[in-house]
Amino acid sequence: MSTTTEVGSNGGTDYDAIVIGAGFSGLAILHHLREIGLKTLVIDGEDGIGGTWWVNRYPGVRTDSEYSYYSFSFSKEVRDEWTWSERYPAGPEVLRYLNFVADRLDLRKDIRLNTRVESAVYDESENVWRVNILGGGTLTAKYLVSGMGVLSQAIYPSIPGIDSFKGQKYHTAHWPRGGADLKGKRVGLIGLGASGIQVVPTIAPEVDEFFVFQRTPNFIVETTNDRVSASEMQHVREHYDEIFEKAANHPFGVAMDFAENSALDVTPEERERIFESKWNEGGFHFANECFNDLATNHESSELASEFIRTKIREIVHDPTTAELLCPTSYSFNGKRVPTGHGYYETFNLEHVHLIDVASTPITEITENGVTVGGTEYELDVLIFATGFDAMTGTLTNIDIVGRNGMTLRDKWTEQGLRSNLGISAHGFPNFFMSLGPQTPYSNLPVPIQLGAQWLQRALKWAKDNGVERLEATPESEAAWAAEVERAGKATVMYSEGHKAKAWFLGENVPGKPQEFIVYMGGGQVYQQFCREAEESGYGSFLTDVLAPAKAVGV
Ligand code: NAP
Repeated sequence: MSTTTEVGSNGGTDYDAIVIGAGFSGLAILHHLREIGLKTLVIDGEDGIGGTWWVNRYPGVRTDSEYSYYSFSFSKEVRDEWTWSERYPAGPEVLRYLNFVADRLDLRKDIRLNTRVESAVYDESENVWRVNILGGGTLTAKYLVSGMGVLSQAIYPSIPGIDSFKGQKYHTAHWPRGGADLKGKRVGLIGLGASGIQVVPTIAPEVDEFFVFQRTPNFIVETTNDRVSASEMQHVREHYDEIFEKAANHPFGVAMDFAENSALDVTPEERERIFESKWNEGGFHFANECFNDLATNHESSELASEFIRTKIREIVHDPTTAELLCPTSYSFNGKRVPTGHGYYETFNLEHVHLIDVASTPITEITENGVTVGGTEYELDVLIFATGFDAMTGTLTNIDIVGRNGMTLRDKWTEQGLRSNLGISAHGFPNFFMSLGPQTPYSNLPVPIQLGAQWLQRALKWAKDNGVERLEATPESEAAWAAEVERAGKATVMYSEGHKAKAWFLGENVPGKPQEFIVYMGGGQVYQQFCREAEESGYGSFLTDVLAPAKAVGV
C-alpha cells in the first residue's frame, strides 16, 4: 500500500477515524490508517501506552510465545533497531517495545491517554460516530475502531464475603504500579490460568507461606527462558518476513512447523520419542509440533495428557500434590494451554501448599483469609488471578450504540454473538473491531498486524469507490456464526464428557451465553476468509446500494 495516497476527507468530523485502545492493536491501526492519509486518533483510558501490557503488571508476567513472532514485522526501522533480550520477554520489556514502536513511528502525537470512552453513538443522518468521553467532551469521526483487547475486562469470582478481607487484595489485571510487598507475608492465590501460573513460581521464593487454591488444574507446557544472543537477534532480523509469514500460515500464529502425523499413526515408542523431544524444546513446541490432531482428536489429546501427567508425577515429589495437579476431567488442549517457567517444581517448596477447592469449594472469604470447608487459611495478601470477561466484555461494558439506538450488548444478547469475521457487526456501520469476538485464538500480534493491514486496504477501497458505509450484512453474520460453531465443535474443547470450563466458550462468566467466542478453525484459514471478502469486493460488508460504476470489479 502506498504511503502517499491521501484518502482522508475528515469533512465535518474531528477525525476520520478514532481507535479505542493504545495497545498492540491501536498502534498498528494508527500507523496503517495514517499511511493512507486518514486523520486518526487513538484514545485510551489508561495513562500509558501498552494496553494489556500496561495493566497486567503482575509478578512473572511475560509472553507465552517466543519474541521473534510476538512482535510486528511491518516496520523495517523497528525490526532493525529493536533488540529483544529474552526468548519469552517479560512484561516490562514488551512495554518498552511498544513504547519504542510508538516513538519510532512517531505515533505518540496522535494518542490521547487518560481518555476513557463512556459511550460511542452512531448518527445515521450524518454517518458519523460520536464518542463521548468519561468526564465530558465528545469526539467525532467517520470510522470507529475497537482496539480494546480480548482480555481486558477483569472479573472477580462471586465468593461470599469477598469484600470483607482486611488484608491486601490484588487482581493480576490491576496490579499496583509500584508492585506489591509480598516478602515474608502469608499469601493466598485463587486462579490458575495462564496468569496465576506465571505468578506462582515468581512470588513463591519471597513469601512466607503460600496457599494456592486450585479448582481446575491445567496442562502446562514447561519451558526455559534463554537469553537472546546478538547473533540470534541478527539472524531473526534478517528473516523477519519469513518468520512472520510462517506464523501467519500457522493455525495458532506461531512460526512453527506443521506436524504431519496423527498421534495414532505412529508406534507407542515413536510417539514417546516425539513427545519427549518436543517437551524438551519447551512451551508451545509441544502443543504444536508433536502431532497434527492434539486439538481435534480426543484419543490423541488424551495420549498427550498422559505424557504430561507422567511429567508432573516425575517433577512433583509429594504424590498427593502431584495427583491434584494432574487434570483428569478434560484432556490436553481442552483449555488454553499455558507456558510454564518452573511451575510444577514450585510445589516441592515446603511453604507452598496446594489446596483443592474442586472437591470442597471455597466456602467464604473472611476478614482474615479464605475458608474452605471447615478450615480457615489466614492470609496477609489475597491474589485473584481469576480472568476476564473475554472477547465481548470490553465491547459490552460500554455503550456502543449503532443504528436505531441498539447497543452491541443488546444485539448480542438478542441475536447471539453475530459478526462478520469478528471485524464488523450488522447495525454498526463503519465500526470495526481488531480481535473482535469470533476471531481466531492465536499468538495475537500476528492477526493484529494482518487485521490492521486488511482494514487499511478496506478503507482505501471504500474511499476510492465512493462507499460511505462498510457494515456486515446479516447473511455474512449468519454464515460466520455457523463456521465458528462448526470449527469449535471439531475441537477437544467440545468433547462430550471431557469438557473443560473454558473462557473460549464463555463459561467463566455467570450468565454469559455459552457459545464459541473465538474461531477455532485456524488463523491461516481465517486469513483466507478475510482475503476472499476483500477479493470479492467486500460484498459481505455492504448493506448500502453503491454507485453502480464503482461497486463492482474492483
Ligand atoms: P483464566 O484462564 O480465565 O483463569 C481463571 C482461573 O480462576 C481459573 O483457574 C479458574 O478456575 C479460577 N477461578 C475462577 N473462579 C474461581 C473460584 N470461585 N474458585 C476457584 N478458582 C476460581 O484467566 P487468566 O489466567 O487471567 O488467563 C486468561 C487468558 O489470558 C489466558 O487464557 C491467556 O489467553 C491470556 N493470558 C496470556 C498470558 C501470556 O500469554 N503470557 C498470560 C496471562 C494470561 P476454573 O478453571 O476451575 O474455572
